[in-house]
Amino acid sequence: MKTIKVNALGAMLAALAALIHPIGIRAVQPPLQRQTALRLYVFDCGTLEGDPARFNLKREEMATTDMSFACYLIAHPNGTLIWDTGAVPDSDVKSENQRTRHHLVLSNTERYVTIARSLNSQVREAGYAPEHMTYLALSHYHYDHTANANEFANATWLVRQVERDAMFAQKPPDLIQRATFNALANSKTVIIKSDDYDVFRDGSVIIKWAPGHTPGHQVLFVKLAKTGPVLLSGDLYHYPEERMLDRVPTFDVNADQTRRTRTALDAFLKKSGGQLWIQHDFKANSALKKGPAFYD
Ligand SMILES: [Zn+2]
Repeated sequence: MKTIKVNALGAMLAALAALIHPIGIRAVQPPLQRQTALRLYVFDCGTLEGDPARFNLKREEMATTDMSFACYLIAHPNGTLIWDTGAVPDSDVKSENQRTRHHLVLSNTERYVTIARSLNSQVREAGYAPEHMTYLALSHYHYDHTANANEFANATWLVRQVERDAMFAQKPPDLIQRATFNALANSKTVIIKSDDYDVFRDGSVIIKWAPGHTPGHQVLFVKLAKTGPVLLSGDLYHYPEERMLDRVPTFDVNADQTRRTRTALDAFLKKSGGQLWIQHDFKANSALKKGPAFYD
């Protein structure tokens, strides 16, 4: 009960702080919590009713066709990073803690996603304010990673030029929902030019270029003290069966490049001793503790 009270107070303070900040001046207030050690929070951003054929898989080859949507917050002593922002905009999540099935209409296709909570409420419950994040990074531009990007437009956006160009192109690629990330056009932005980008400059949180699924697709390496190193997959794989049976999705921008990236990252995992967390893996993600609990 105590934790809930503290978090409720934190949310109230954040709301109050937002009210008293003069309009037009960016808040320089630190996040509600500052960590002394690295933490990784996992948030539940919903479940997709997946279609195996799009991943060159057959239903009978799979444990489940459901796919998880996960969002992540990395809290470092020198700042915070949001990694991926879900498939359903918070403005469409009408009730908290009640699983609701959403029909998502994309430009030339549709999806069904069940979601119980907004990302905003989960971030606040963990003790952080979306408007005070230090950094935002998306694994890539697809709709199921960008839904709440606008909520983090105050953060510095870490992105590769090729990915940003595709996102704001006159004729964007498929599976893009531009309205969900439009505000990033005006965000403070760091264009990542190297394969690896050391977010907090101490080697603990590294964004790695992992092209193939999209041209600027990236994965996130987080070196946790107790849990050990973790590599958040982006969409390098969706289902664990893609890894076991060597299948590449039908809609990867460059399937050969995906294969090369997978091989390179397998070698990296071996060398670093990291565990791969496949973000869309329903079973593996279900087993992870969710915020306000965290990995450290
Ligand atoms: Zn995805």
